[in-house]
Formats: sequence, structure tokens, C-alpha cells
Amino acid sequence: MKLLVIGCGGVATVAIHKCCQNPLFTEICIASRTVSKCEALAAKLAPTTSAKLTTATVNADSFDSLVALMKEFQPHTVLNVALPYQDLTIMDACLECGANYVDTANYEAEDTDDPEWRKIYEKRCEEKGFTAYFDYSWQWAYQEKFQKAGLTALLGTGFDPGVTSVFTAYALKHYFDEIHYIDILDCNGGDHGYPFATNFNPEINLREVSANGSYWEDGHWVETKPMEIKREYNFDGVGQKDMYLLHHEEIESLAKNIPNVKRIRFFMTFGQSYLTHMNCLQNVGMLGTTPVAFEGHEIVPIKFLKALLPDPASLGARTVGKTNIGCIFTGIKDGKKKSIYIYNICDHQEAYKETGLQAISYTTGVPAMIGTALVASGTWSGAGVFNVEEFDPDPYMDMLNQYGLPWVVDENPVLVD
Ligand code: NDP
Repeated sequence: MKLLVIGCGGVATVAIHKCCQNPLFTEICIASRTVSKCEALAAKLAPTTSAKLTTATVNADSFDSLVALMKEFQPHTVLNVALPYQDLTIMDACLECGANYVDTANYEAEDTDDPEWRKIYEKRCEEKGFTAYFDYSWQWAYQEKFQKAGLTALLGTGFDPGVTSVFTAYALKHYFDEIHYIDILDCNGGDHGYPFATNFNPEINLREVSANGSYWEDGHWVETKPMEIKREYNFDGVGQKDMYLLHHEEIESLAKNIPNVKRIRFFMTFGQSYLTHMNCLQNVGMLGTTPVAFEGHEIVPIKFLKALLPDPASLGARTVGKTNIGCIFTGIKDGKKKSIYIYNICDHQEAYKETGLQAISYTTGVPAMIGTALVASGTWSGAGVFNVEEFDPDPYMDMLNQYGLPWVVDENPVLVD
């Protein structure tokens, strides 16, 4: 099976490592903006795999560049692990060339000052009640096009979204008649020793965590100020951590796909030093996305900041500790109220030893391969645009165990108030 992977950053590197371990993928083309990264990875992995590895340069912002590459390589499936900015262009190219599409993050506009985009965004803020720059409406709008083409688009197969959504489908299938409350807890207990760095693409990461929070309750969104809601939780394998309520994309799809759900919240852990740095950068304008004139050049502050911060792909060697990511579900089974907690613990150093990347890239890259494999093998099939919780979770849960992200079900969890 011919797979085209677009992007060659932290998540892509892990996903490609894992694809090379899966005999389903017989030919893999690694294509990205900087082809030297693709070549270095292909050279490293070639001796370890029976898959034929090739590389290419592609500009994923350009439909023509993508179509030229896809026409030449003729992929069965395309895994988009570039940036959310490119989702729609890559989906368009997949439709043009008859390839299935898989990604790990929903569409986000790169230029949030574009008046045409803003008009649609402001209407959505008003109608839906949350102000995040990203949402599923853009990609769900491709439903008919993928149906007509007889192709599958699988959205959001990272860890969160991705595994957290599969955990939800698994809990509903095996543990509950109805799920009423979902708390998604994302804890990173890793320490990289830098005063400040982000664990994945700084631009995407900082835009996400500096935005308003929100949660789904009783059929509508409740929006909060950034970091307004704080809780503490004692995470297995990590210990006691502060965590903050954020808006997160899987809330939107789970609210649509999980019947009878009353509330969905997402919490992520942050240390005080991270928050102080982030607030300071925000206060001085370094998280801005609007170009500013500087000594005859135009500079986008957050892109300049990205150039100053450590490359997330370089954090692996120095990061120690574990992540613990999972979901606490409360609902009804056989008329009785119950709660369970499904989670995975991933060790940064073990992830590094296997792939050269830390656990944040690892926990995203492994499920990116799994979702791709399920689509490519036809185990998950159907024409249209799907979120992962719409398919049978069992094969995915088995592959998590098989490919390095084993999970635990705690039937007596401590709840979050
Ligand atoms: P990186 O910045 O490390 O990698 C992005 C890659 O995409 C780079 O190789 C970059 O090329 C390439 N790229 C960017 N723009 C283009 C373009 N126009 N054309 C071709 N290639 C391009 O990001 P990450 O690996 O950290 O993240 C990858 C994706 O995973 C993101 O969409 C992110 O949101 C998502 N993610 C999802 C998570 C989840 O749990 N669901 C968690 C973490 C991340 P170059 O090397 O030249 O810069």
C-alpha cells in the first residue's frame, strides 16, 4: 500500500517510524517543505524496514504542488502531519487525485486578519458561542465531496484529539449505556530543563493555550477567560499537578457524536513558570499573528518567537518524566451510575530511545499511524468525512497496546469537581 506522508517534523518522524514497523505500508513517500529532513529520516529508517522509502519536496499550501506530487506517486492514502493551516489544500488535492485523507488536527486559518475568513469566523462565534480560531465546520463541509468521490477522510487521529475520542467510543461500547460527563485530562510531567519551550509546534501550541477556554454543557458552549478554571489532580505515574480548562477540538466532535452527553471538559497541566513566560510574551505582543514593520521588513511576532525557541524536535534527549493522558467518564450502566478512567502513561526517555523524539510527538505520531493503517487496510471504511469516535474502537485499542501506547482502565477513579 502506497502512503504519502506530508510534513517531516516531530509528529511525522514518530508516525513514519511506526509506519515502517507496519508491513501494511509497502511504499512510503516522505514529502515536506525542507526535503533534507525527509532525506535524513529516510536514510535512518531504510535499513530497519522492508517498506520502500522515497522523498520529495512539496509546498502543502499549494494545490498545484500537491497535485503534481500525488499524480506522480499515486498514493492510496495521504497522512497530513504538516500544520493545520494546510488541511483544506491537502483535502482538495486528495479529492483531485483519488486518495484517502488522514490528519491529526483540525483546520486553522494562518492569516486570522483575512477579512473574508474573519466574516465567517465572527458569524460562527456568534452562532456557536466559542471563539477558538479552529473548528470542524471547514472540514465537515467536505462530507458530500468525499462521499461522492467514494473516499475516506479521517480527522484528528493524534492523542487528543484521537486516542481520547477512541477511549470515549470504547467506554460507550463496553462500559456504559449512556455517557453523561467526560473530563479529558492531558498531563505532561516531563522536564526538558529549559526555562521555556513548547513540546510541539510553538505557533500552534501558544495560539491554543493563550486563547479563551470553553466547555460543552447541556447542549451549548460555555466560554471562560484563558486559564480561568484551575483544578489539581494526582496523576498516576506523574503525581500532583495543576491543570487548567482549555477549549479543545475533540469537545466539538464528541458533543455531536456521543448521544446524551451533558458535559465535556478538557484540562491540561501547566507549571507556574510556563504560564508566567506565556503571559509575559502575550503582554508584550510576541504571540501576535499580524505582521509588524521592523527595520524595513515585515515580521510576524509569533513566527519570530518560534525561531528563538528551542525546536520541539530537539527536546527529546533532554526531557525526562512521563505523560499521562486520558478521560474520566461518568454515566449509566444497567440503571446504575458509574465512573471509569481510561488513560495511557508514556515515558519521555523511552519514546526518545525508540524514535529520537519526546513523548508529546510519540503520543501523537503512534495514533497517526494507527488511524492511517485502519483506513488504508479498509478496517475502517466508508465514503465521507469522519471523526475517529465514529468507527469501531476495538481494533484501534488493540493497536495502541501493540505499538507502544498501552492503556489502563481504572474503575474507581478520583473525579474532578
Ligand atoms: P512541526 O512544526 O514539528 O512539523 C511540521 C512539519 O510540516 C515540518 O516538517 C514543516 O516543514 C512541515 N510544513 C509546514 N508547512 C509546510 C508547507 N507549507 N508545505 C510542506 N510542509 C510544511 O509540527 P509537529 O510535528 O509538532 O505537529 C504536526 C501536526 O500535528 C500539527 O498539525 C499539530 O497541530 C498536530 N498535533 C496534534 C496533536 C494531537 O494530539 N492531535 C498533538 C500535537 C500536534 P519544515 O521542516 O520545513 O518546517
